[in-house]
Amino acid sequence: MKVLIAEDDMTSRIILDSILKKWGFTVILTCNGKQAWDVMQSKEAPRLAILDWQMPEMNGVEVCQRIRKMESSDPPYLIVLTSKDEKKDIVKALEAGANDFISKPYDNEELQARINVGKRMIKLQSELGDAYKALKHEAMHDPLTNIYNRRAIMELLEKEIAREKREKVGLCVGMCDIDYFKKVNDTYGHQIGDEVLISFTRFVTDKLRLNDHVGRIGGEEFLIVANGSKELEQKTMFERICDHVRNSEISSEKGNISITVSIGVARYTGVENADGLLAAADKALYHAKKIGRDRVVHADTM
Ligand code: GH3
Ligand code: MG
Ligand code: MG
Ligand code: MG
Repeated sequence: MKVLIAEDDMTSRIILDSILKKWGFTVILTCNGKQAWDVMQSKEAPRLAILDWQMPEMNGVEVCQRIRKMESSDPPYLIVLTSKDEKKDIVKALEAGANDFISKPYDNEELQARINVGKRMIKLQSELGDAYKALKHEAMHDPLTNIYNRRAIMELLEKEIAREKREKVGLCVGMCDIDYFKKVNDTYGHQIGDEVLISFTRFVTDKLRLNDHVGRIGGEEFLIVANGSKELEQKTMFERICDHVRNSEISSEKGNISITVSIGVARYTGVENADGLLAAADKALYHAKKIGRDRVVHADTM
């Protein structure tokens, strides 16, 4: 684990360096607050810093203040080390954002114990961060296919509509529904049905462009939000998905499976809300099913 030491006094710096190395840390030595602040802003900044209070250029408490002003989901653990030991100094350092405060001369055992508290806090914080990321992913993604779930893709559509109002780069949605999917389940079983849904997701994502998004609206229905390109290009993209699904075989333990998809596409004209746009795409999808499935129907050509 990396630890930053900021200490202007050379003897103290050498002592700290050698004991921290003895305790197994990788030490980054700095001799003033300015250097410490530069290191703490870098990409691979240490998660723990021991800062002397009185240093030239920038003092340790000011370094704490600056670090706490940075937007970070993973803030470092800061220990201020100083010969000041009055209550008001301790308060000042803690209020500036220090996690802990050790008075000089310090006792090695106490220093090690306090550093260990910091290590525990850092571990806890990173576990919490990981748990938060996992929960956030879970809240936004469909567990089977790992693409956006209904809520997330609808939120994204709302955002894209708001953006389209400002930027007018072209926005459309494609409602996709796998044809006769019930038959896949009936013939091969639900589990292989699930595998087909996963493969279908891959076929779609294969053909999406950088600014397109897909989410699972429910069952065997998926919504594509296509943004930032010419109308013809968007139309071609939906045709490509339809062709790719038709021409791809899904291998399963019960043999190869072929499926087709029907897609209803609606283009944003500047007035619809998300539900209105979805309803138009749904209507086009219904029409695609009615006239034979395995095709793309555009709402504006109906
Ligand atoms: P259509 O061409 O008219 O769309 O026919 P369809 O059979 O695809 O449509 P229908 O709505 O009758 O059937 C959809 C089926 O999708 C029924 C349901 O059991 C199945 N399904 C929904 N969610 C899942 C899932 O998560 N896994 C599996 N294996 N099947 C699912
Ligand atoms: Mg000093
Ligand atoms: Mg359906
Ligand atoms: Mg279907």
